[in-house]
Amino acid sequence: MQRDMHYFCTFAMARAAGIPDADANAIAYASQFVDDSTRYSSEAHRDGGLLFGITTAHTLLEALARSTSDRVTKLEDQRKVWVPFHFFPGGAGDSFYEKIICVKDGELVNEMFKNNLSVALAKDYGLELLGITAHVYADTFSHYGFSGMSSLFNKVAQDSLHEENTSTKGVRSTLFHALNVVKDSVFGESAEQATAALGHGPVADLPDRPYAEWSFAYEEECRGRDLQSSRKNHQTYLEYCEKIYGYFRQFAESRYGASCLIPFEEMRVELGRLLKKGKELDEREANWKTSALTAGVAAYDPEEWENDKKKFAHGISSRDGIATHVYRFHQAAAYHRYHVLKDMLPSHGIAVY
Ligand SMILES: [Zn+2]
Repeated sequence: MQRDMHYFCTFAMARAAGIPDADANAIAYASQFVDDSTRYSSEAHRDGGLLFGITTAHTLLEALARSTSDRVTKLEDQRKVWVPFHFFPGGAGDSFYEKIICVKDGELVNEMFKNNLSVALAKDYGLELLGITAHVYADTFSHYGFSGMSSLFNKVAQDSLHEENTSTKGVRSTLFHALNVVKDSVFGESAEQATAALGHGPVADLPDRPYAEWSFAYEEECRGRDLQSSRKNHQTYLEYCEKIYGYFRQFAESRYGASCLIPFEEMRVELGRLLKKGKELDEREANWKTSALTAGVAAYDPEEWENDKKKFAHGISSRDGIATHVYRFHQAAAYHRYHVLKDMLPSHGIAVY
């Protein structure tokens, strides 16, 4: 999904569930920042303290540079970044590559959510952890059927892709597509071969556009997944809205003893309208901004927390820096990555990292 969903929609659901505006903004920011926290750079405070950043995504240039680097680095990125933060394994099937395929609203991602929710209620970095968790959960409603590692199971049968209502055919701008194109021209390989079928590269950014109605067939049979896939993204995105609202309700009740601000059923029509309206991201974001559902949402600037990271080094003391959103975001990201890769997935027999 993109910023219209990870930021604006997530804010709207948190607010409607009864989470106060300031906290709903922090949750939504953390949810979107998963896509924007691409830098490792960390500077130590003069008192010796350090905020060490966790990379939760890669920019196009970084991904491109790293994809041509050695195999170990490339695989590390897939295992440490794409799998835990964007393509949560569903655990279906028998083989490793079947098990890491993302499943929409799957059992494993819900197990992860329940764990993170209880941790979020107990920790100072709870809002940031809840935001990260919302991002990972949301992505299962768009990335399902694909995995975060190069895999034959990600391959899409040639000429099987049909788009029903996309006016932007051929104009694809996401990381995966750009990666395909650039690598294609650099190495002269077919786009699919060049990315070794990473993530949903073979279908470009169709999974991430809320209005898209499209269908395709995978090249490889695999247990726990139909060969043919026919999708109306706005329907699955609406499912995300309802489910994340439910999780936010639990948090609102436990943390603030709050009842909901807006019952979900009262939003269903408006959400359906927002999910189908607008094609490009800026248009879709403008629609969300003018909806009453996002009253109280702050403007999103990806540099805001990144700049706070820089300020950490020059603040009064590193101890004070611990209370900033950005420090807590990196605490939460590190916790999530550890829990998923070293604790939860291995307990299901899945050794990603
Ligand atoms: Zn993502």
